[in-house]
This record gives sequence, structure tokens and C-alpha cells, in this order.
Amino acid sequence: MSERTLAIIKPDAVERRQIGAIIQRIENTGFQIRAIRRVHLSKAQAEGFYAVHRERPFFPSLTAFMSSGPAVVLVLEAAGAIKKWRALMGATDPAKADAGTLRKEFAESIERNATHGSDAPETAAYEIAYFFAGFELV
Ligand code: GDP
Repeated sequence: MSERTLAIIKPDAVERRQIGAIIQRIENTGFQIRAIRRVHLSKAQAEGFYAVHRERPFFPSLTAFMSSGPAVVLVLEAAGAIKKWRALMGATDPAKADAGTLRKEFAESIERNATHGSDAPETAAYEIAYFFAGFELV
């Protein structure tokens, strides 16, 4: 059964010109890219996306970072896409990420960590709908 997840190439990786390298890894790992768009979020849009984290101490800093420059949002499809994409990304903190993961290779810090991925089917549905209308998922 194929599944969809929402991926983001975050502003730190876009700034370092790593969009192409990350998309190459996505394709090499067997995901279908069902939708893709470059966005520059406003602070309010970043706050809406990360609303579940609003009580966390790092929320102001995270949403400032996520609205600091352009990002690339993608819908990825594969069997078990949510777990498969989180496995490719690696741990949130690049210092703890396994060798061969995107965050080990591309992330700068626990906050500027190159990529985002949905963590469960309900969050994937919310996050995909946050950026894409049904007719854009082809
Ligand atoms: P994820 O699912 O691996 O992205 O991690 P979380 O859902 O726990 O956190 C969301 C995002 O907030 C992370 O990807 C980081 O960009 C940021 N973040 C998480 N933990 C911290 C932290 O302790 N400090 C800071 N500054 N940012 C964090």
C-alpha cells in the first residue's frame, strides 16, 4: 500500500544550494515526487505549520528560521513513505544522526537540520493539505 508524506527542504539547505543533492537522494531511494513547490513562508505561515510545537521553548526561533528564506515543499509517495522518509532524514539532531542519513550529511544543527518529514498519518494529512490542493497531487 503506497503512502504519502510531506517533506520540506528547509531554508538552511536551500541557502547552501543542496536542493538538487537532496532530491537526487529522494529519487534514488525510490520515492515518487507527487508535488513540489518553492515557498518563502511568512512568520504566521510557519507558526501555523508548526502549531503543535507552540508551547516548546524553541518555537519562536524555529518559526523565525523557517520563515528566514525560501524552502522547498514536496509530497513523497512510497510504500511506508512516512517511516521511510524519516529513516532517510535521520535523527533530529545531526550529532545523533546515523552515517548515510541526510541530516548527518547536510544539517548544521538541531534547528537548522536541512529537512522536515511528517511523523504520523494524521500529521501527514494535515501537512500535505497545508501546502497542496488535491488537484495538485498528480
Ligand atoms: P523532527 O520531527 O525530527 O523534525 O523533530 P521535532 O518535531 O521534535 O521538531 C521540529 C523541528 O524543531 C526540528 O526539525 C528542528 O528544526 C526544531 N527543533 C527540535 N528540537 C529542537 C531544539 O531542542 N532546539 C531548537 N532550537 N530547535 C529544535
